[in-house]
Amino acid sequence: MSFLLPKLSYGYDALEPVIDAKTMEIHHSKHHAGYTNKLNAALEKHPDLDSMSIEKLLTGLDDVPEDIRTAVRNNGGGYYNHSLYWEVMAPGGASKPSEELSKMINQTFSSLEELQELFSKEAVGRFGSGWAWLVSDANKDLEILSTSNQDSPISLGLTPILGIDVWEHAYYLNYQNNRAEYVKAWWDIINWDVVSQNYKNV
Ligand code: MN
Repeated sequence: MSFLLPKLSYGYDALEPVIDAKTMEIHHSKHHAGYTNKLNAALEKHPDLDSMSIEKLLTGLDDVPEDIRTAVRNNGGGYYNHSLYWEVMAPGGASKPSEELSKMINQTFSSLEELQELFSKEAVGRFGSGWAWLVSDANKDLEILSTSNQDSPISLGLTPILGIDVWEHAYYLNYQNNRAEYVKAWWDIINWDVVSQNYKNV
């Protein structure tokens, strides 16, 4: 069994003007496809890992054979992180978090606005390529953090419920080097139904 590039539930132009169609097309059909293909190529060397889910591979990186560990970390992380990214950006859906998630956001960050400010700061401040995340631990406590390259919070035992890709390939055509403008605009295309469901599922 090999991993399949997930289909988007919306068109490449659906997130315009925040993310342009060309960026979406290249990001999905080239970058995400590339991570998927390289993950599959690495796993072909170890057919015994065939039935493992991506979650299992990434939460147990130490158990992945050493010769493909880095490939699984980078390309498996890329495969998993992008799948979440497309989903939380789906157009439509609620413009605010669910009651359950709102309550925890207010308790942790005092307000949604404050969460957005802290998260944006983390996303803009991440040096080089990486991601910023809103994650939940097993007790459903929330935290904001960032990771480098394609490292995923799931490998830290945390569940990402919202994540932004801050690699330049995610925004350069439209925003050039202005990551802060991309992050600021990005909040307009979050599908809070999906984020709330991610939190509910923890
Ligand atoms: Mn990306």
